[in-house]
Amino acid sequence: MDLQLGKELDEFRHMVRAAVAEDLPAEMRARQRAFGGLQSENLDSLTWAAILARRGWSVPHWPVEYGGQDWTPLQKFVFEDELSSAWAPDVNWGGTHMVGPVIYTFGTQAQKDRFLPDIREGKCFWAQGFSEPGNGSDLANLRTGAVLQGDRYIVNGQKIWTSGAHDAAWGFFLVRTDPTVKAQRGISFLLIDLKSPGITIRQIPEINGEADLCEIFLDNVEVPVGNLVGEPGMGWTYAKFLLDHERTTSSFIFWNKRELRRTRAIAQAETLDGVPLAQLPQFQSRLIRLEAEVAALEWSVLRVLETEEFTHNLTAVASTLKVSGSRLQQAITELQVDLYGALSMRSFPIELAHQRPTPLWPTNIAGRTATALGIRAATIFGGTLQIQRGIIAKLAFGL
Ligand SMILES: Cc1cc2nc3c(=O)[nH]c(=O)nc-3n(C[C@H](O)[C@H](O)[C@H](O)COP(=O)(O)OP(=O)(O)OC[C@H]3O[C@@H](n4cnc5c(N)ncnc54)[C@H](O)[C@@H]3O)c2cc1C
Repeated sequence: MDLQLGKELDEFRHMVRAAVAEDLPAEMRARQRAFGGLQSENLDSLTWAAILARRGWSVPHWPVEYGGQDWTPLQKFVFEDELSSAWAPDVNWGGTHMVGPVIYTFGTQAQKDRFLPDIREGKCFWAQGFSEPGNGSDLANLRTGAVLQGDRYIVNGQKIWTSGAHDAAWGFFLVRTDPTVKAQRGISFLLIDLKSPGITIRQIPEINGEADLCEIFLDNVEVPVGNLVGEPGMGWTYAKFLLDHERTTSSFIFWNKRELRRTRAIAQAETLDGVPLAQLPQFQSRLIRLEAEVAALEWSVLRVLETEEFTHNLTAVASTLKVSGSRLQQAITELQVDLYGALSMRSFPIELAHQRPTPLWPTNIAGRTATALGIRAATIFGGTLQIQRGIIAKLAFGL
């Protein structure tokens, strides 16, 4: 089902499409297409942001004074849709969508001058140091401590599941600066140079053959007091602002649309006794159902974008989109694996598929099993689905 958004947005879409076709390097596109997993190569994310920055498009959602674009929510929607459809890599979300908005909203002028240009121009990868062993859902009880000594904080503790930390230059961290007050009131928001003495970063091997998730150990790490964002004890408020900032991205709508297109193509290309799998009832019904569900999700996202400023309970809305989006991510990638059947097992890990091509292997199978395995994590990252359902129950239904 193709969405009609009107003539002006169509023109805008064509303008973006032409620019992306001109700017997106072919090898970067090929990498994203071949892998197309949970996230992009970290280096590609930075390079692509630098390319977008030449047109002023790397942070269109920021206020114009900091380098954003004065686009409507629907224009931003179309922009991201086009980037995803063209197999452009994601930019470094931690920088552009998380810490960037926190810095321009709550940071000092010195912090804005120092960090915002580098984020905008893809010069520096940022990691999000929130979760700790035992304190993921229960984030408010985090234990990594920061003690003020003169003009620096001394930080001790451990973070875990920090995406991309091994490639990151900086991290934004939640740390406990006051253990004597209510849990949420004692948390502060610190920007930490990940090359600081006392920091050890270890990658964690993942089921899909990657190792993008990391553990970070902080042992008497000295952080200048000028790297504290806003007020001490306000970290929880800034973290909520950060997590609420992009309400519709939790749906992964562009990812879902793109992967569904890929699924449809696989179902057309793969055959059983000469019949495309897309025509067999057992696959046809699954495809049709997913098409309807992705279309419904897209309409929901658009409705939220149209009515955001009038809508109460936006947090519950974001949770609803996350539950639907994650479920679809898993259903779509599981269907890809099922369409390839037993061959899926032989395409794992991704390197094997590249190294030992055989006529028996369909083109484009590389990475499908790895992606389906990696996307199991969609029920956990960004707040588990049980936690999201708890939020919906409480905020939407008052339970
Ligand atoms: C791919 C991936 C990337 C990530 N990237 C980052 C990152 O960059 N930075 C970062 O800081 N963190 C990151 N995380 C961590 C993520 O935010 C946490 O894993 C998540 O919040 C869950 O916390 P936990 O792992 O401690 O699990 P737990 O909180 O221990 O949960 C375990 C189980 O108990 C359930 N549960 C817990 N509490 C409740 C409750 N109150 N009600 C009902 N059920 C409950 C959960 O739903 C889950 O099923 C990432 C995680 C993944 C998988």
